[in-house]
Amino acid sequence: MTAHDAYTIEPWGLTEQSLDLDVLARAESVFALSNGHVGMRANLDEGEPHGLPGTYLNGVFELRPLPYAETAYGQPESGQSVINVTNGKILRLLVDDEPFDLRYGDLKEHQRRLDFRDGLLKRRAVWTSPAGRTVRVTSTRLVSLTQRAVAAISYEVEPMDGPARIVVQSELVANEQLPSANGDPRAAAVLEAPLVAEQHSHQGAKAVLVHQTRFSGLRVAATMDHVVECDGPHQAETETEEDHARYSVTTVLKPGQKLRIVKFIAYGWSAARSLPAVRDQVAAALTAARYTGWDGLVAEQKAYLQDFWERSDIEVDGDMELQQAVRFALFHVLQAGARTEERAIPAKGLTGPGYDGHCFWDTETFVLPVLTYCLPNAVAQALRWRHSTLPLARERAVQLGLAGAVFPWRTIRGEECSGYWPAGTAAFHIGADIARAVERYVRATGDADFERDYGMEILVETARMWRSLGHHDAEGRFRIDGVTGPDEYSSIADNNVYTNLMAQANLRAAADAATRHLHQAAALGVDTEEMAQWRDAAASMYVPYDEKLGVHPQADGFTNHEMWDFDNTPAAKYPLLLHYPYYDLYRKQVVKQADLVLAMQVRGDAFTAEEKARNFAYYERLTVRDSSLSACTQAVMAAEVGHLDLAYDYLAEAALMDLHDLGGNTRDGLHMASLAGACIALVAGFGGLRDHDDHLVFRPRLPSGLTRVAFSMRLRGGIVLHTEITRAEATYSLREGDMLKLMHDEEEVVITKGRPASRPIPRPVPLERLSQPPGREPARRHAQSGPTIGSDDTPLDQTSD
Ligand code: BGC
Repeated sequence: MTAHDAYTIEPWGLTEQSLDLDVLARAESVFALSNGHVGMRANLDEGEPHGLPGTYLNGVFELRPLPYAETAYGQPESGQSVINVTNGKILRLLVDDEPFDLRYGDLKEHQRRLDFRDGLLKRRAVWTSPAGRTVRVTSTRLVSLTQRAVAAISYEVEPMDGPARIVVQSELVANEQLPSANGDPRAAAVLEAPLVAEQHSHQGAKAVLVHQTRFSGLRVAATMDHVVECDGPHQAETETEEDHARYSVTTVLKPGQKLRIVKFIAYGWSAARSLPAVRDQVAAALTAARYTGWDGLVAEQKAYLQDFWERSDIEVDGDMELQQAVRFALFHVLQAGARTEERAIPAKGLTGPGYDGHCFWDTETFVLPVLTYCLPNAVAQALRWRHSTLPLARERAVQLGLAGAVFPWRTIRGEECSGYWPAGTAAFHIGADIARAVERYVRATGDADFERDYGMEILVETARMWRSLGHHDAEGRFRIDGVTGPDEYSSIADNNVYTNLMAQANLRAAADAATRHLHQAAALGVDTEEMAQWRDAAASMYVPYDEKLGVHPQADGFTNHEMWDFDNTPAAKYPLLLHYPYYDLYRKQVVKQADLVLAMQVRGDAFTAEEKARNFAYYERLTVRDSSLSACTQAVMAAEVGHLDLAYDYLAEAALMDLHDLGGNTRDGLHMASLAGACIALVAGFGGLRDHDDHLVFRPRLPSGLTRVAFSMRLRGGIVLHTEITRAEATYSLREGDMLKLMHDEEEVVITKGRPASRPIPRPVPLERLSQPPGREPARRHAQSGPTIGSDDTPLDQTSD
């Protein structure tokens, strides 16, 4: 069975109809629950079998040395890796002395379902033990979106064919043994036993474990409490030791009788707070969860998600699987960002340890553009986190001999954790990506306080960095040499077009913001001379162009490089980074991920329509999509230049990245940028949304596979704009707010409350299909009707029990 056979196609959830032990780790990522602060992989309740056990707290990491074969100035010496904190998910079950372990006995039924509307992961299993006793286990798990420290599980067991002695052991387990590393550079370093015990105690059905990380000195507390309902007489006991807490319930049940345990779990951590403070913090969170109760937590979760979907849903008609994938994507993007509260949003969210739990430009370039229009407060929080790391970014700039701030390419707390300069710090563009996210957030929300108190400083310090990194050449052009753009198969290039155009926008945004907030600008030491220098550098920014080919080289000289030998590169050798030396990739024309094409999306104002079409066709032949960050951008630009069916193919690839495990590494966590990118592909691709300036511009076009796309966006002034696109027309209406001006193609459209506006969409002109590197063509998408939920199988939420 392939990964995608495993899930039924349905619009509002994801159902796994049976358990496939070979893809367990994949499913653990796909069904992971998180609120951005606490993340729980979908490990089975009983703890084993598991693919990759994982419980994460945003910001909790361990330090590890970054050794180098040869030392050099400025290399970061200490890395940060996310750790698997105390596991509170475990509820082990014994049936007549035999462990409920699905590798033994006979698993008659196993179903898991995640509903995007209530955020609950439900599971039902019917299992016959090796001794022949059959039990039904039903569990529901949530990670609360309203109470950020809290998770809860309702676990129910019932014998089906005779009396059974049942023991349930609900546990907290620290320092779980993890499977060893698999050698994939995108996976995480495995740290043995990173938690040192500080305190353990129990009282009644409650227990708490407090630990500290060995080197990073972070204090982590986990606590649990239980409510038991049992149809038979039962007995309970609690015990704790350093790395382990256990609450056990024993009973004998007859068929028709049930044992139900509701487990409340609360987490907390701190770098500064004392042991009693952190311990009491989790105790308080647990008390609040108990007070809310299971039904209350479920109701809060539903209400939170109902509000989210009302303002943020993306509807797709004509392709049910894509509809499901897009809601899956939005749900996970929400989970990654909802309650991070001034911590980073990692590339995998809190769904797995991939990339060591680091946050990259993925956040500002892919995740935040989506959250800006559906959960703007989360964007402010994420950018405030970046702001809080400015002292470290300034230190890094000083170390590198630069002015302003150099943000890290990859990090958890703010220090640079990339030990590889060419695909690390040299990707200076991250500074401009962050600045762009600030600009977009301020424009979308009108949050002037944020701009003055946080945004300004980010814009100013990144503009200073660009001004010192680049220089005016003899012809007066402002050049930025020796950088790596988004495409990691080229490095240390001069005048990467993406970087230069993003730096240009950054320099202008800093000067504009300083003009709006003169007082704050003066406090940051900005004077008119410095602002003039930024504007001057922006105005004379050098953007290379290859006159002979009539295309933009991705960076100076790129189009002169030898072509990669695509014809003799077998499919099995992708991704190329795992099979060819970087020196060879670096000196040839081969593109890992959209770079110049991304520049045309985010700085579309800097290219003519003809340039976009020619550039897009040129880079299609070179782009191998060895990064999951590429397909979504190619979808957006394919749609803009008129290749609508190709855009549809790329959209599907981005949206199905994890549901179909297209990168082969979903086990390590979900690809947040690709999931967010799928939403961008719909809204900016088929919706044609561009937000370069104060007017939102829409140029909607649908591919032949889709009949309707609709989406909502939150905008400044309490406006919720709803856009509905069919092949013939686009209709704009206000769900909240009074009035909005926008552009539909070249026409200004004014929408007022209760008066939607519809505009025709021109018929697309058919274009010849473009070619990609052989073997790297995106799968052709034709709408999937697939197995749908309902007919033979009873979905979990439609059962009475
Ligand atoms: C990509 C980067 C990305 C990183 C984390 C790499 O493969 O090339 O652009 O930031 O993955 O997702």
